[in-house]
Amino acid sequence: MSSPTLDRVLDAVLRVDAQFDIRFISEPGQRWFTAIPGSELPTNFVDILHPDDVAGFKQTLAGTPETFSLDLRILKGGTECWINLRSYRLHAAHQHVFCVFDISMWKTEDSALRHAAQHDELTGLPNRALLKSTVEQRLKSGGNPFSVALLDLDGFKKVNDTYGHAMGDAVLIETTKRLIKLLGPGDMLARLGGDEFVLLYDNKNAEAAQQALKNVLLAVARPYDAAPHNAYLGVSIGLAEYPAHGDDYSTLLKNADTAMYYSKNAGKNRVTVFTLTEANLDFSIRAAIHNGIQDGEFYMDYQPQYDMDRRLIGAEALMRWTNRDLGRVGPDQFIPIVEDAGLMPFLGKWALRYSCHQLRKFQKLAPDFVMSVNVSPVQFGSDHFDVEVMDVVKETGIDPSKLVLEITESTLMSSQQKTERALARLREQGIRFSIDDFGTGFSSLAYLTRLPVSSIKIDKAFIWAMGESEPTPASSSDRKLISAMINLAHSIDLKVVAEGVETEHQLAFLKAAGCNVAQGYLTGRPMSASDILRQIQPEEALA
Ligand code: C2E
Ligand code: CA
Ligand code: CA
Repeated sequence: MSSPTLDRVLDAVLRVDAQFDIRFISEPGQRWFTAIPGSELPTNFVDILHPDDVAGFKQTLAGTPETFSLDLRILKGGTECWINLRSYRLHAAHQHVFCVFDISMWKTEDSALRHAAQHDELTGLPNRALLKSTVEQRLKSGGNPFSVALLDLDGFKKVNDTYGHAMGDAVLIETTKRLIKLLGPGDMLARLGGDEFVLLYDNKNAEAAQQALKNVLLAVARPYDAAPHNAYLGVSIGLAEYPAHGDDYSTLLKNADTAMYYSKNAGKNRVTVFTLTEANLDFSIRAAIHNGIQDGEFYMDYQPQYDMDRRLIGAEALMRWTNRDLGRVGPDQFIPIVEDAGLMPFLGKWALRYSCHQLRKFQKLAPDFVMSVNVSPVQFGSDHFDVEVMDVVKETGIDPSKLVLEITESTLMSSQQKTERALARLREQGIRFSIDDFGTGFSSLAYLTRLPVSSIKIDKAFIWAMGESEPTPASSSDRKLISAMINLAHSIDLKVVAEGVETEHQLAFLKAAGCNVAQGYLTGRPMSASDILRQIQPEEALA
């Protein structure tokens, strides 16, 4: 928007500070603002902006280092007035100079249409078209890295289908409000449609963006005012970085989308950075996984679990892969590919056998040590799952009552009679089951009482949502929610494990709330078997 004729009708010059308080208005500007009798001079620029234009204005301001031009509506003497705003940043003073051109006269329907064409009607956010042009502008100005995160809400369809579109819309608006608060200078939030959003992180590589996205996971994990309390939402995120993962808009978006798809597949509510998941790499990764299994590139780490008096009681076995070419690859990245390639039954069985062999060694020193092993839905669906597990138990000679299999809510909810029978048979042999990532699915509690489950693992997102330290009003409802989950589990004789415990405050709260077991970076990161043994042995020496 830069018609040369505009220069002739400069109506006001303003200088605003970082809070948008107006520090100066030119004399003609003062006359222009007060032309309508009874009207006053504005004191804050955002206060006079049309509510629908505030978000766009702030984003543009934050997103452009030096100068920009934007068409906006302001309220002047009680009436709406279209202006063209040219902004110039005064770096040292953290202030801006705004040149205001009254363009109401020429503001035809045409430009209103253009605004509509670039914004999403429901949320007022920039839409796909504006996102594209913004990204292309950044690419043209070159140089600085940035990241594109594609967000797709988990569980949104369920809200929409169960409670209707009005509630679906309310959830989208609430999500928008939460996410806008997290935008840093230069960042942009756009809505692509449906429950898909894009976060454009200015000047951030994937690693930095990943850090920032942790807050996005937390923000979405909080219960929604707009939705019933049993409707938990999550968000699956895919991340691509410029220039490493593409140097044009469509490649970046496509790659973020591929990574998002892997987040969904890996159990949702997480961030996947595009690297490995690049479609054309996929084939060679399959080959690498295949060879890796044969070449012994896979191994297990063990994350210690403690009771509330900080006594080591067991560990969760977590799969690791260090490839010659790719380096360390996280299970969130490779497991979806392994599943896709049909290798999961094989690799899952390998993991179980490996962990049980290790458990046998731990049990020699600490007979009560409990090992938790993750089971993929793919494994669970196999015809002989129970037989395979019992084979491993016999082969390794472990005490089966010290083996816990972690399964996700969705595995249970979509389970067939066949799998329920397998579960029951394994339970008869003493093996226990824990519901992993509890709270992230749309669970009916009926299955918890019906199936032979002995504990739940509250998903990390809930632990993180309670905050890192002192409670705030926002986190207090999350704390109540955790207490409710614990009480509910106890009422049907289930033990409760909290995962992702990172601070003393969280641990203290969980202890007071009656949680049974804690696992997290606070008490111990995933570590090697020999590190676990070192933790077991001193106690053994004392005994
Ligand atoms: P999960 O089963 O929910 O495992 C817990 C994940 O949370 C682990 O990530 C662990 O390192 C991480 N974690 C634990 N405490 C904290 C904390 O305090 N802060 C933070 N930021 N993270 C924490 P990891 O090892 O990357 O595993 C990711 C997922 O991969 C697992 O999620 C599980 O779904 C899957 N996975 C790992 N090993 C296996 C396996 O042997 N079989 C199957 N089927 N899936 C596995
Ligand atoms: Ca787990
Ligand atoms: Ca978990």
